[in-house]
Amino acid sequence: MPSKTYLCAHFSHPSSGIVDIENDPNRAPPCDESVCQLPDCFCSEDGTTIPGNLPAKDVPMMITITFDDAINNNNIDLYKEIFNGKRKNPNGCDIKATYFVSHKYTNYSAVQETHRKGHEVAVHSITHNDEERFWSNATVDDWAKEMAGMRIIIEKYANITDNSVVGVRAPYLRVGGNNQFTMMEEQAFLYDSTITAPLSNPPLWPYTMYFRMPHRCHGNLQSCPTRSHAVWEMVMNELDRREDPTNDEYLPGCAMVDSCSNILTGDQFYNFLNHNFDRHYDQNRAPLGLYFHAAWLKNNPEFLDAFLYWIDEVLSNHNDVYFVTMTQVIQWIQNPRTTNEVKNFEPWREKCVVEGQPACWVPHSCKLTSKEVPGETINLQTCVRCPNNYPWVNDPTGDGFF
Ligand SMILES: [Zn+2]
Repeated sequence: MPSKTYLCAHFSHPSSGIVDIENDPNRAPPCDESVCQLPDCFCSEDGTTIPGNLPAKDVPMMITITFDDAINNNNIDLYKEIFNGKRKNPNGCDIKATYFVSHKYTNYSAVQETHRKGHEVAVHSITHNDEERFWSNATVDDWAKEMAGMRIIIEKYANITDNSVVGVRAPYLRVGGNNQFTMMEEQAFLYDSTITAPLSNPPLWPYTMYFRMPHRCHGNLQSCPTRSHAVWEMVMNELDRREDPTNDEYLPGCAMVDSCSNILTGDQFYNFLNHNFDRHYDQNRAPLGLYFHAAWLKNNPEFLDAFLYWIDEVLSNHNDVYFVTMTQVIQWIQNPRTTNEVKNFEPWREKCVVEGQPACWVPHSCKLTSKEVPGETINLQTCVRCPNNYPWVNDPTGDGFF
């Protein structure tokens, strides 16, 4: 078999390195539902089919809140305010979120506490390289250093030992094509949440990448995988940003809430949340993803108020709406349960209500440098011992190169 480099060079766009699925002779085949069966494979022709073919009215409505980038003093208080121990899913457990954490300036004692509380910690790279093309063109090895390296840092400095760091989101939502997904298979990551699906009704369910993606590769110069990969795709359904979808003219959707640039007031945000909730709830109950950067809520108290009001209202008005982590969504898809059954669904009761003390009250505050980040001294807070160097791509443990 020719090397990947050969194929990419041969079939790529001259300048962008993007492989077109129609031109890849080794492309994944279209979904074959007789072959692709739960729990390890899930696909459908247009991506909208409900797992287990349950009737929509029996499907618990899953909502996935995610936050990207470093966890530190800029956002810890915000997260505590949203996840304050008073907001409960219908099974009595605290609502949960997923954090895609990038390395620089992250406080790992806060990551440890986030994980202790039952939220999901996933990786968003070490460098957060701001050259967007880097991610489109990165090699399998680049991806491994950035993402598997980030998992090493998280596991060590947030002392996470339960193998729960299984998710990946690329910076700037720049999909890394087959190289990214090959790395994920090799490094045993469970899912990606970077690929965006254009706004559609009904919205899409997550799918596995064994078969061809059920939607076009959306976005400017994006490089989607073309081949078969043993990875779940927690596809990012674009949200409908129109205030009044029955009257307003068509507008393109938006994947991150903070990129829905026409939301200007708390009321507009509240209407936006309700409208998109209804689109999912009243159609096929595909999980509703609400993807944020903390600053958008922190810098706009009106948005935060509207968001908290909306969460509380949704929880009090529905006994079939659950705020869960990405991994909990996959666990449900692998084992679909009706709203009645799901109250006792074990994976959704894990760390149901967490009390007790944080791992440490006063973390070590390690002032560190790295040859890879010249001229900077960076603080790393952790409950475990300080390393010698600031961890970075070629030295994720911080013990010294290699
Ligand atoms: Zn980011």
